[in-house]
Amino acid sequence: GVLSESFKTAVNKLRFADDDKALKNALETLKKALLKADVHHKVTKELLQRVEAHTKQAGIGQEAFLNAIKHSLAEILTAPGNQGFVYTSKPPTVVLMSGLQGSGKTTTTVKLGTYLKLRKKKVLIAACDLQRLAAVEQLKQLCAQHELDLFYDESGSDPVDVAKKALEKAKSGLYDVLLVDTAGRLAIDEALMAQIKAVHKAIAPHEVFYVADALSGQDAVKTAASFHEALGITGVVLSKYDGDTKGGVALGIAHQVGVPLRFIGVGEKAADLEAFLPERIVGRIMGEGDLATLAEKTNAVIDEKKAKLMNKKIKKGEFNFNDFLDQMESMKKLGSMKSMLGMIPGLSGMADKLKDVDLENSVEMKRIKAMIGSMTLKEREAPALLNNSRKRRIATGAGLSQVEVNRFLKQFQNAAKMAKKFSGKKGMQDLQAMLG
Ligand code: GDP
Ligand code: MG
Repeated sequence: GVLSESFKTAVNKLRFADDDKALKNALETLKKALLKADVHHKVTKELLQRVEAHTKQAGIGQEAFLNAIKHSLAEILTAPGNQGFVYTSKPPTVVLMSGLQGSGKTTTTVKLGTYLKLRKKKVLIAACDLQRLAAVEQLKQLCAQHELDLFYDESGSDPVDVAKKALEKAKSGLYDVLLVDTAGRLAIDEALMAQIKAVHKAIAPHEVFYVADALSGQDAVKTAASFHEALGITGVVLSKYDGDTKGGVALGIAHQVGVPLRFIGVGEKAADLEAFLPERIVGRIMGEGDLATLAEKTNAVIDEKKAKLMNKKIKKGEFNFNDFLDQMESMKKLGSMKSMLGMIPGLSGMADKLKDVDLENSVEMKRIKAMIGSMTLKEREAPALLNNSRKRRIATGAGLSQVEVNRFLKQFQNAAKMAKKFSGKKGMQDLQAMLG
Protein backbone atom coordinates (compact mmCIF):
# COMPACT_ATOMS: atom_id res chain seq x y z
CA GLY A 1 0.00 0.00 0.00
CA VAL A 2 1.03 3.60 0.62
CA LEU A 3 3.66 2.38 3.07
CA SER A 4 4.97 -0.28 0.78
CA GLU A 5 5.43 2.20 -2.05
CA SER A 6 7.20 4.72 0.12
CA PHE A 7 9.69 2.21 1.43
CA LYS A 8 10.53 1.24 -2.12
CA THR A 9 11.04 4.86 -3.16
CA ALA A 10 13.34 5.46 -0.22
CA VAL A 11 15.39 2.39 -1.02
CA ASN A 12 15.73 3.45 -4.64
CA LYS A 13 17.13 6.79 -3.52
CA LEU A 14 20.03 4.99 -2.00
CA ARG A 15 20.76 2.97 -5.09
CA PHE A 16 23.56 4.86 -6.78
CA ALA A 17 25.40 6.72 -4.06
CA ASP A 18 26.48 4.87 -1.00
CA ASP A 19 27.40 7.78 1.19
CA ASP A 20 26.16 9.88 4.07
CA LYS A 21 24.35 12.27 1.80
CA ALA A 22 22.48 9.49 0.03
CA LEU A 23 21.47 8.04 3.38
CA LYS A 24 20.16 11.41 4.54
CA ASN A 25 18.24 11.74 1.33
CA ALA A 26 16.75 8.27 1.67
CA LEU A 27 15.82 8.88 5.30
CA GLU A 28 14.16 12.16 4.36
CA THR A 29 12.09 10.38 1.70
CA LEU A 30 11.11 7.73 4.19
CA LYS A 31 10.12 10.36 6.73
CA LYS A 32 7.84 12.18 4.33
CA ALA A 33 6.24 8.92 3.31
CA LEU A 34 5.67 7.77 6.87
CA LEU A 35 4.02 11.03 7.83
CA LYS A 36 1.89 10.92 4.74
CA ALA A 37 0.74 7.44 5.72
CA ASP A 38 -0.42 8.89 9.06
CA VAL A 39 2.32 7.38 11.16
CA HIS A 40 2.59 9.46 14.32
CA HIS A 41 5.56 11.85 14.29
CA LYS A 42 7.08 10.34 17.41
CA VAL A 43 6.94 6.85 15.95
CA THR A 44 8.36 8.18 12.69
CA LYS A 45 11.25 9.79 14.52
CA GLU A 46 11.94 6.66 16.52
CA LEU A 47 11.83 4.48 13.42
CA LEU A 48 14.16 6.76 11.47
CA GLN A 49 16.67 6.85 14.31
CA ARG A 50 16.71 3.09 14.39
CA VAL A 51 17.05 2.78 10.62
CA GLU A 52 19.93 5.25 10.60
CA ALA A 53 21.74 3.54 13.45
CA HIS A 54 21.29 0.05 11.98
CA THR A 55 22.41 1.21 8.52
CA LYS A 56 25.53 2.93 9.80
CA GLN A 57 26.39 -0.07 11.89
CA ALA A 58 26.32 -2.32 8.85
CA GLY A 59 28.03 0.15 6.51
CA ILE A 60 25.97 2.46 4.34
CA GLY A 61 24.54 0.89 1.22
CA GLN A 62 21.28 -0.19 -0.28
CA GLU A 63 21.38 -3.69 1.14
CA ALA A 64 22.22 -2.45 4.63
CA PHE A 65 19.50 0.16 4.38
CA LEU A 66 16.94 -2.42 3.35
CA ASN A 67 17.90 -4.72 6.18
CA ALA A 68 17.89 -1.82 8.61
CA ILE A 69 14.34 -0.97 7.61
CA LYS A 70 13.21 -4.55 8.08
CA HIS A 71 14.93 -4.78 11.43
CA SER A 72 13.62 -1.45 12.70
CA LEU A 73 10.10 -2.15 11.50
CA ALA A 74 10.05 -5.45 13.36
CA GLU A 75 11.24 -3.68 16.49
CA ILE A 76 8.63 -0.93 16.25
CA LEU A 77 5.82 -3.39 15.57
CA THR A 78 6.64 -5.54 18.57
CA ALA A 79 5.40 -4.85 22.09
CA PRO A 80 5.74 -7.08 25.15
CA GLY A 81 2.97 -9.65 25.37
CA ASN A 82 1.33 -12.44 23.43
CA GLN A 83 1.14 -12.75 19.66
CA GLY A 84 -1.70 -14.30 17.72
CA PHE A 85 -4.20 -16.18 19.87
CA VAL A 86 -2.74 -17.84 22.94
CA TYR A 87 -4.59 -20.51 24.90
CA THR A 88 -4.31 -20.98 28.64
CA SER A 89 -3.10 -24.34 29.89
CA LYS A 90 -6.36 -24.77 31.76
CA PRO A 91 -9.36 -24.02 29.55
CA PRO A 92 -11.46 -22.05 29.02
CA THR A 93 -9.32 -19.17 27.81
CA VAL A 94 -11.42 -16.15 28.71
CA VAL A 95 -11.28 -13.06 26.50
CA LEU A 96 -12.97 -9.81 27.40
CA MET A 97 -13.77 -7.63 24.39
CA SER A 98 -13.73 -3.89 24.99
CA GLY A 99 -14.07 -0.77 22.91
CA LEU A 100 -16.24 2.15 21.95
CA GLN A 101 -19.64 1.77 20.36
CA GLY A 102 -19.47 1.00 16.67
CA SER A 103 -15.78 0.15 16.79
CA GLY A 104 -16.47 -3.38 15.67
CA LYS A 105 -16.50 -5.34 18.94
CA THR A 106 -19.41 -7.60 18.13
CA THR A 107 -18.24 -8.24 14.57
CA THR A 108 -14.73 -8.95 15.84
CA THR A 109 -16.06 -11.31 18.50
CA VAL A 110 -17.83 -13.34 15.83
CA LYS A 111 -14.77 -13.21 13.57
CA LEU A 112 -12.56 -14.41 16.39
CA GLY A 113 -15.05 -17.17 17.19
CA THR A 114 -14.97 -18.25 13.55
CA TYR A 115 -11.18 -18.07 13.48
CA LEU A 116 -10.93 -20.34 16.54
CA LYS A 117 -13.61 -22.71 15.35
CA LEU A 118 -11.67 -23.24 12.12
CA ARG A 119 -8.81 -24.29 14.37
CA LYS A 120 -11.04 -26.89 15.97
CA LYS A 121 -11.67 -25.04 19.21
CA LYS A 122 -14.93 -25.14 21.12
CA VAL A 123 -16.00 -21.54 21.49
CA LEU A 124 -18.69 -19.90 23.58
CA ILE A 125 -19.68 -16.29 23.06
CA ALA A 126 -21.33 -14.29 25.86
CA ALA A 127 -23.74 -11.48 25.02
CA CYS A 128 -22.97 -8.91 27.70
CA ASP A 129 -23.99 -5.79 25.81
CA LEU A 130 -27.30 -5.08 27.49
CA GLN A 131 -27.11 -1.40 26.68
CA ARG A 132 -28.74 -1.57 23.30
CA LEU A 133 -31.89 -3.61 22.73
CA ALA A 134 -30.72 -4.82 19.37
CA ALA A 135 -27.31 -5.95 20.59
CA VAL A 136 -28.32 -9.40 21.80
CA GLU A 137 -30.40 -9.91 18.68
CA GLN A 138 -27.40 -8.98 16.48
CA LEU A 139 -25.26 -11.60 18.19
CA LYS A 140 -28.02 -14.21 18.02
CA GLN A 141 -28.25 -13.80 14.29
CA LEU A 142 -24.51 -13.75 13.67
CA CYS A 143 -23.90 -16.78 15.88
CA ALA A 144 -26.69 -18.73 14.22
CA GLN A 145 -25.32 -17.84 10.82
CA HIS A 146 -21.82 -19.02 11.69
CA GLU A 147 -22.81 -21.91 13.95
CA LEU A 148 -21.26 -20.48 17.06
CA ASP A 149 -22.56 -21.17 20.58
CA LEU A 150 -23.98 -18.13 22.30
CA PHE A 151 -24.83 -17.52 25.94
CA TYR A 152 -27.43 -14.85 26.57
CA ASP A 153 -29.97 -14.04 29.21
CA GLU A 154 -32.98 -12.27 27.84
CA SER A 155 -34.37 -11.40 31.23
CA GLY A 156 -31.00 -10.34 32.58
CA SER A 157 -30.15 -6.72 32.97
CA ASP A 158 -26.78 -6.98 34.67
CA PRO A 159 -23.83 -7.68 32.38
CA VAL A 160 -21.76 -8.86 35.36
CA ASP A 161 -24.34 -11.49 36.14
CA VAL A 162 -24.55 -12.65 32.52
CA ALA A 163 -20.77 -12.83 32.27
CA LYS A 164 -20.54 -14.95 35.42
CA LYS A 165 -23.20 -17.36 34.20
CA ALA A 166 -21.49 -17.58 30.82
CA LEU A 167 -18.21 -18.46 32.51
CA GLU A 168 -19.93 -21.21 34.49
CA LYS A 169 -21.38 -22.60 31.30
CA ALA A 170 -18.01 -22.40 29.54
CA LYS A 171 -16.46 -24.40 32.36
CA SER A 172 -19.16 -27.02 32.71
CA GLY A 173 -19.54 -27.31 28.93
CA LEU A 174 -15.79 -27.88 28.52
CA TYR A 175 -15.31 -25.00 26.16
CA ASP A 176 -11.82 -24.06 25.01
CA VAL A 177 -12.54 -20.37 24.73
CA LEU A 178 -15.07 -17.89 26.10
CA LEU A 179 -15.40 -14.58 24.25
CA VAL A 180 -17.26 -11.90 26.18
CA ASP A 181 -18.81 -9.14 24.09
CA THR A 182 -19.56 -5.96 26.01
CA ALA A 183 -21.30 -2.64 25.59
CA GLY A 184 -19.57 0.44 24.24
CA ARG A 185 -20.29 4.14 24.35
CA LEU A 186 -19.68 6.82 21.81
CA ALA A 187 -16.95 8.21 24.02
CA ILE A 188 -15.16 7.02 27.11
CA ASP A 189 -17.19 7.78 30.22
CA GLU A 190 -17.20 6.79 33.87
CA ALA A 191 -20.25 4.54 33.66
CA LEU A 192 -18.80 2.57 30.77
CA MET A 193 -15.51 2.07 32.55
CA ALA A 194 -17.18 1.14 35.83
CA GLN A 195 -19.31 -1.47 34.10
CA ILE A 196 -16.53 -3.14 32.19
CA LYS A 197 -14.29 -3.06 35.23
CA ALA A 198 -16.99 -4.88 37.19
CA VAL A 199 -17.25 -7.53 34.46
CA HIS A 200 -13.47 -7.79 34.45
CA LYS A 201 -13.37 -8.34 38.19
CA ALA A 202 -16.11 -10.96 38.08
CA ILE A 203 -14.57 -13.19 35.41
CA ALA A 204 -10.81 -12.44 35.65
CA PRO A 205 -10.16 -12.77 31.90
CA HIS A 206 -6.84 -14.06 30.55
CA GLU A 207 -6.96 -11.52 27.77
CA VAL A 208 -8.55 -8.12 27.38
CA PHE A 209 -8.77 -7.10 23.75
CA TYR A 210 -9.40 -3.52 22.83
CA VAL A 211 -11.12 -3.16 19.46
CA ALA A 212 -10.16 0.10 17.79
CA ASP A 213 -11.56 1.50 14.57
CA ALA A 214 -8.63 1.98 12.20
CA LEU A 215 -10.54 4.72 10.44
CA SER A 216 -10.39 6.91 13.52
CA GLY A 217 -6.64 7.34 13.03
CA GLN A 218 -4.64 8.63 15.98
CA ASP A 219 -7.83 8.71 18.08
CA ALA A 220 -7.68 4.92 18.05
CA VAL A 221 -4.32 5.15 19.77
CA LYS A 222 -5.59 7.64 22.36
CA THR A 223 -8.65 5.62 23.33
CA ALA A 224 -6.64 2.40 23.41
CA ALA A 225 -4.23 4.08 25.81
CA SER A 226 -7.05 5.23 28.12
CA PHE A 227 -8.57 1.77 28.16
CA HIS A 228 -5.17 0.35 28.90
CA GLU A 229 -4.76 2.67 31.83
CA ALA A 230 -8.18 1.87 33.24
CA LEU A 231 -8.42 -1.81 32.47
CA GLY A 232 -5.02 -3.19 31.58
CA ILE A 233 -5.60 -4.43 28.05
CA THR A 234 -3.45 -7.27 26.70
CA GLY A 235 -4.02 -6.76 23.01
CA VAL A 236 -5.35 -4.37 20.41
CA VAL A 237 -7.49 -5.38 17.46
CA LEU A 238 -7.67 -2.85 14.64
CA SER A 239 -10.97 -3.18 12.82
CA LYS A 240 -11.93 -1.73 9.43
CA TYR A 241 -8.40 -1.93 8.14
CA ASP A 242 -9.89 -2.58 4.72
CA GLY A 243 -11.37 0.88 4.64
CA ASP A 244 -9.76 4.10 3.60
CA THR A 245 -7.03 3.87 6.17
CA LYS A 246 -3.49 4.81 5.22
CA GLY A 247 -1.97 2.16 7.40
CA GLY A 248 0.07 4.33 9.73
CA VAL A 249 -1.94 3.51 12.84
CA ALA A 250 -1.15 -0.18 12.56
CA LEU A 251 2.52 0.65 12.36
CA GLY A 252 2.60 2.77 15.48
CA ILE A 253 -0.09 1.54 17.83
CA ALA A 254 1.83 -1.26 19.58
CA HIS A 255 4.78 1.05 20.18
CA GLN A 256 2.57 3.92 21.28
CA VAL A 257 0.31 2.00 23.65
CA GLY A 258 2.88 -0.57 24.74
CA VAL A 259 0.53 -3.46 24.00
CA PRO A 260 0.81 -5.77 20.99
CA LEU A 261 -1.49 -5.40 18.02
CA ARG A 262 -2.95 -8.89 17.85
CA PHE A 263 -5.43 -8.96 15.00
CA ILE A 264 -6.67 -6.78 12.20
CA GLY A 265 -10.16 -6.77 10.73
CA VAL A 266 -10.06 -6.53 6.97
CA GLY A 267 -13.71 -6.69 5.96
CA GLU A 268 -17.23 -7.23 7.16
CA LYS A 269 -17.33 -11.00 6.71
CA ALA A 270 -16.63 -13.48 9.48
CA ALA A 271 -13.51 -14.70 7.66
CA ASP A 272 -12.02 -11.22 7.43
CA LEU A 273 -9.73 -11.37 10.44
CA GLU A 274 -5.97 -11.79 10.38
CA ALA A 275 -3.45 -12.40 13.11
CA PHE A 276 -0.99 -9.53 13.14
CA LEU A 277 2.46 -11.07 13.35
CA PRO A 278 5.19 -8.43 13.09
CA GLU A 279 7.68 -10.41 11.02
CA ARG A 280 5.07 -11.37 8.49
CA ILE A 281 3.82 -7.83 8.28
CA VAL A 282 7.32 -6.58 7.61
CA GLY A 283 7.45 -8.92 4.63
CA ARG A 284 4.22 -7.50 3.40
CA ILE A 285 5.27 -3.88 3.87
CA MET A 286 8.46 -4.63 1.99
CA GLY A 287 6.36 -5.99 -0.87
CA GLU A 288 7.53 -9.56 -0.44
CA GLY A 289 4.11 -11.01 0.20
CA ASP A 290 3.21 -13.26 3.07
CA LEU A 291 2.78 -16.86 2.04
CA ALA A 292 2.54 -18.12 5.61
CA THR A 293 -0.65 -16.22 6.33
CA LEU A 294 -2.01 -17.02 2.92
CA ALA A 295 -1.38 -20.72 3.47
CA GLU A 296 -3.16 -20.59 6.82
CA LYS A 297 -6.13 -18.82 5.37
CA THR A 298 -6.41 -21.14 2.44
CA ASN A 299 -5.82 -24.17 4.62
CA ALA A 300 -8.96 -23.25 6.44
CA VAL A 301 -11.03 -23.69 3.28
CA ILE A 302 -9.20 -26.41 1.39
CA ASP A 303 -9.29 -30.01 2.50
CA GLU A 304 -7.13 -31.07 5.38
CA LYS A 305 -4.96 -33.57 3.54
CA LYS A 306 -3.97 -31.01 1.01
CA ALA A 307 -3.37 -28.48 3.74
CA LYS A 308 -1.04 -30.82 5.61
CA LEU A 309 0.89 -31.55 2.46
CA MET A 310 1.24 -27.85 1.79
CA ASN A 311 2.53 -27.19 5.31
CA LYS A 312 5.04 -29.99 4.95
CA LYS A 313 6.30 -28.54 1.71
CA ILE A 314 6.66 -25.08 3.18
CA LYS A 315 8.55 -26.55 6.12
CA LYS A 316 10.98 -28.34 3.86
CA GLY A 317 11.39 -25.27 1.70
CA GLU A 318 9.77 -27.14 -1.18
CA PHE A 319 6.98 -24.75 -1.89
CA ASN A 320 6.97 -24.47 -5.66
CA PHE A 321 5.17 -22.75 -8.51
CA ASN A 322 2.50 -25.43 -8.82
CA ASP A 323 1.64 -24.94 -5.18
CA PHE A 324 1.53 -21.26 -5.87
CA LEU A 325 -1.05 -21.73 -8.61
CA ASP A 326 -2.97 -24.08 -6.33
CA GLN A 327 -3.12 -21.46 -3.61
CA MET A 328 -4.35 -18.93 -6.12
CA GLU A 329 -7.21 -21.25 -7.00
CA SER A 330 -8.16 -21.78 -3.37
CA MET A 331 -8.13 -18.06 -2.81
CA LYS A 332 -11.16 -17.67 -4.96
CA LYS A 333 -13.20 -19.32 -2.22
CA LEU A 334 -12.03 -16.90 0.41
CA GLY A 335 -13.53 -13.78 1.84
CA SER A 336 -12.04 -10.48 0.98
CA MET A 337 -10.01 -10.66 -2.20
CA LYS A 338 -8.30 -7.39 -1.55
CA SER A 339 -6.82 -8.47 1.73
CA MET A 340 -5.44 -11.63 0.16
CA LEU A 341 -3.62 -9.80 -2.59
CA GLY A 342 -1.12 -8.19 -0.28
CA MET A 343 0.09 -11.60 0.78
CA ILE A 344 1.02 -12.78 -2.66
CA PRO A 345 4.48 -12.01 -3.92
CA GLY A 346 4.20 -10.02 -7.11
CA LEU A 347 0.69 -8.83 -6.36
CA SER A 348 1.20 -6.99 -3.10
CA GLY A 349 1.43 -3.61 -4.76
CA MET A 350 -1.95 -4.13 -6.31
CA ALA A 351 -3.97 -4.53 -3.16
CA ASP A 352 -4.49 -0.90 -2.41
CA LYS A 353 -4.76 0.35 -5.94
CA LEU A 354 -7.90 -1.55 -6.69
CA LYS A 355 -11.08 -1.84 -4.71
CA ASP A 356 -12.77 -4.71 -6.46
CA VAL A 357 -10.13 -6.78 -8.03
CA ASP A 358 -10.82 -9.12 -10.87
CA LEU A 359 -7.84 -11.24 -10.02
CA GLU A 360 -8.25 -13.69 -12.87
CA ASN A 361 -8.09 -10.96 -15.44
CA SER A 362 -5.54 -8.67 -13.84
CA VAL A 363 -2.39 -7.82 -15.74
CA GLU A 364 -0.24 -9.02 -12.85
CA MET A 365 -1.97 -12.37 -12.66
CA LYS A 366 -1.66 -12.83 -16.40
CA ARG A 367 2.04 -12.05 -16.17
CA ILE A 368 2.59 -14.49 -13.36
CA LYS A 369 0.60 -17.18 -15.13
CA ALA A 370 2.55 -16.52 -18.34
CA MET A 371 5.79 -16.82 -16.42
CA ILE A 372 4.83 -20.08 -14.77
CA GLY A 373 3.39 -21.25 -18.09
CA SER A 374 6.78 -20.72 -19.72
CA MET A 375 8.50 -22.93 -17.19
CA THR A 376 9.12 -26.60 -17.80
CA LEU A 377 7.35 -29.04 -15.51
CA LYS A 378 10.62 -29.64 -13.70
CA GLU A 379 11.18 -25.96 -13.15
CA ARG A 380 7.73 -25.56 -11.67
CA GLU A 381 8.49 -28.31 -9.17
CA ALA A 382 11.94 -27.01 -8.34
CA PRO A 383 12.31 -23.23 -8.34
CA ALA A 384 16.01 -23.63 -7.49
CA LEU A 385 16.67 -24.81 -11.05
CA LEU A 386 16.16 -21.33 -12.41
CA ASN A 387 19.56 -20.09 -13.50
CA ASN A 388 20.15 -17.12 -15.76
CA SER A 389 19.74 -18.87 -19.08
CA ARG A 390 16.51 -20.47 -17.92
CA LYS A 391 15.26 -17.12 -16.67
CA ARG A 392 16.07 -15.57 -20.05
CA ARG A 393 14.13 -18.30 -21.79
CA ILE A 394 11.16 -17.85 -19.47
CA ALA A 395 11.18 -14.09 -19.96
CA THR A 396 11.15 -14.51 -23.73
CA GLY A 397 8.47 -17.18 -23.54
CA ALA A 398 6.24 -15.01 -21.38
CA GLY A 399 6.90 -11.87 -23.38
CA LEU A 400 8.34 -10.09 -20.37
CA SER A 401 11.60 -8.40 -19.51
CA GLN A 402 14.17 -10.26 -17.49
CA VAL A 403 13.89 -7.60 -14.81
CA GLU A 404 10.24 -8.47 -14.34
CA VAL A 405 10.97 -12.17 -14.12
CA ASN A 406 13.77 -11.53 -11.64
CA ARG A 407 11.59 -9.34 -9.51
CA PHE A 408 8.87 -11.95 -9.28
CA LEU A 409 11.32 -14.72 -8.49
CA LYS A 410 13.00 -12.67 -5.80
CA GLN A 411 9.67 -11.93 -4.17
CA PHE A 412 8.67 -15.56 -4.43
CA GLN A 413 11.92 -16.65 -2.78
CA ASN A 414 11.62 -14.19 0.08
CA ALA A 415 8.04 -15.19 0.72
CA ALA A 416 8.91 -18.89 0.69
CA LYS A 417 11.79 -18.23 3.08
CA MET A 418 9.58 -16.32 5.45
CA ALA A 419 6.91 -19.02 5.31
CA LYS A 420 9.49 -21.66 6.09
CA LYS A 421 10.81 -19.72 9.03
CA PHE A 422 7.38 -19.50 10.56
CA SER A 423 6.51 -23.11 9.93
CA GLY A 424 9.63 -24.41 11.71
CA LYS A 425 9.49 -26.15 15.08
CA LYS A 426 11.50 -23.35 16.61
CA GLY A 427 9.14 -20.78 15.16
CA MET A 428 7.18 -18.63 17.52
CA GLN A 429 5.56 -20.68 20.23
CA ASP A 430 2.34 -18.84 20.16
CA LEU A 431 2.10 -19.16 16.41
CA GLN A 432 1.91 -22.89 16.94
CA ALA A 433 -0.61 -22.42 19.67
CA MET A 434 -2.56 -20.28 17.30
CA LEU A 435 -2.56 -22.95 14.64
CA GLY A 436 -3.88 -25.39 17.21
P1 GDP B 1 -19.70 -2.63 18.10
O1 GDP B 1 -20.69 -1.57 18.43
O2 GDP B 1 -18.34 -2.27 18.63
O3 GDP B 1 -20.12 -3.97 18.56
O4 GDP B 1 -19.55 -2.65 16.51
P2 GDP B 1 -20.12 -3.71 15.46
O5 GDP B 1 -19.39 -4.99 15.58
O6 GDP B 1 -21.59 -3.78 15.55
O7 GDP B 1 -19.65 -3.05 14.09
C1 GDP B 1 -20.06 -1.77 13.64
C2 GDP B 1 -20.00 -1.74 12.14
O8 GDP B 1 -18.67 -1.86 11.68
C3 GDP B 1 -20.78 -2.86 11.48
O9 GDP B 1 -21.49 -2.34 10.40
C4 GDP B 1 -19.70 -3.81 10.99
O10 GDP B 1 -20.10 -4.53 9.85
C5 GDP B 1 -18.56 -2.86 10.69
N1 GDP B 1 -17.26 -3.51 10.78
C6 GDP B 1 -16.69 -4.12 11.85
N2 GDP B 1 -15.46 -4.57 11.56
C7 GDP B 1 -15.22 -4.24 10.27
C8 GDP B 1 -14.10 -4.42 9.38
O11 GDP B 1 -13.04 -4.97 9.72
N3 GDP B 1 -14.25 -3.92 8.12
C9 GDP B 1 -15.38 -3.29 7.71
N4 GDP B 1 -15.43 -2.85 6.47
N5 GDP B 1 -16.43 -3.10 8.51
C10 GDP B 1 -16.37 -3.56 9.78
MG1 MG C 1 -21.71 -4.54 19.73
